[in-house]
Amino acid sequence: MNSPKPRPGILDIAPYVAGTSSIKGQTEVIKLSSNEGAFGPSPKAVKALQEMAASAHRYPDGNSANVRQAIAEIYNLNAEQIVCGAGSDELISLLCQAYGGPGDEILYSRHGFLMYEISARAVGATPVSAPETNLTADVDHVLSCVTDKTRILFLANPNNPTGTYLSHSEMHRLRKNLRSDIILVIDAAYAEFVERNDYQAGADLVDLGDNTVMTRTFSKIYALGGLRLGWAYCPPSICGILNRIRGPFNVGSQAMICGEAAVNDLAFTKKCKDHNDTWLTWTAVELRKLGLFVPENSVGNFVLVRFPETPGKTAADADAFLQNHNIIIRRLEGYGLADCLRITIGLEHEMRAVIKNLRLFMGKNS
Ligand SMILES: *Cc1c(COP(=O)(O)O)cnc(C)c1O
Repeated sequence: MNSPKPRPGILDIAPYVAGTSSIKGQTEVIKLSSNEGAFGPSPKAVKALQEMAASAHRYPDGNSANVRQAIAEIYNLNAEQIVCGAGSDELISLLCQAYGGPGDEILYSRHGFLMYEISARAVGATPVSAPETNLTADVDHVLSCVTDKTRILFLANPNNPTGTYLSHSEMHRLRKNLRSDIILVIDAAYAEFVERNDYQAGADLVDLGDNTVMTRTFSKIYALGGLRLGWAYCPPSICGILNRIRGPFNVGSQAMICGEAAVNDLAFTKKCKDHNDTWLTWTAVELRKLGLFVPENSVGNFVLVRFPETPGKTAADADAFLQNHNIIIRRLEGYGLADCLRITIGLEHEMRAVIKNLRLFMGKNS
């Protein structure tokens, strides 16, 4: 008897392992494993969600018109060039479906976001990862990995889980030296958190031609990960392609209405950003005081921290220690960073608790 078999490549996918969300037997945990937003969603988004519960029988607007318009106004972009998706994960997957397949290569940097590899394999394309330098994407290494078969280059800027970023001029150099038939996808999931003179999210690169896409999400600064909303800013030709292959109702009404409320709540967004600025800096400084390595340019709403190889002091040991104190952070074996942990920036008392416990773990009492 023959059993159904998936297409070649599918069984090579290591299923995505999300950040742990609970500890057995514990109800009060500090969850800093998924970069979800310290304050939760904007109260205006919460109110909008409550108000629409009774209309859940209505199909959503298949064009996501209102939320695209709201995004366009806040980010100063053309709404016609925005495509919404069920999280930016869906847009990553749609781009692979549209432009990649068996025999094609999809490129990303070594410690890039896991969905690039998964989405490449899902369409039968070959994932290729380029070496990084100092836990940062390296334009020359990336370019040297391009072959005749390369179709898409995914680059998270800033990158998750390393927290590092490439400057505006490096991104321009990359685009300039990348073959024009290769799509550069700039995944700017954390752009709202970044404040660096040499950083830009990438819309200007999209506007330069017909081969660059910028993806964004409502799961990070807007803290709506549970609703699934992301968007891509694309050249008109790529918009047309994504609109052909996406589901007609790929984004739910709740996601759209809450997304619109969230993006328009500028005061709340600023509060989240200011909080992150303060506690990201504080956390990185405190971790370094413990003798732990944190990449110099950490700019998301999380920090990567590297632990020693010394038995009893490893990342796995630190994770176990924190879990014993009801703190959940992110292990990174899946990213090839088994000696590191990723810690989301949460509320003040949560960050103080992490540092207090890591101080104990490292045996520093000062
Ligand atoms: C969280 C994250 C996303 C996914 O966001 P969704 O919109 O929730 O699918 C995409 N890229 C990076 C780099 C992320 O960290």
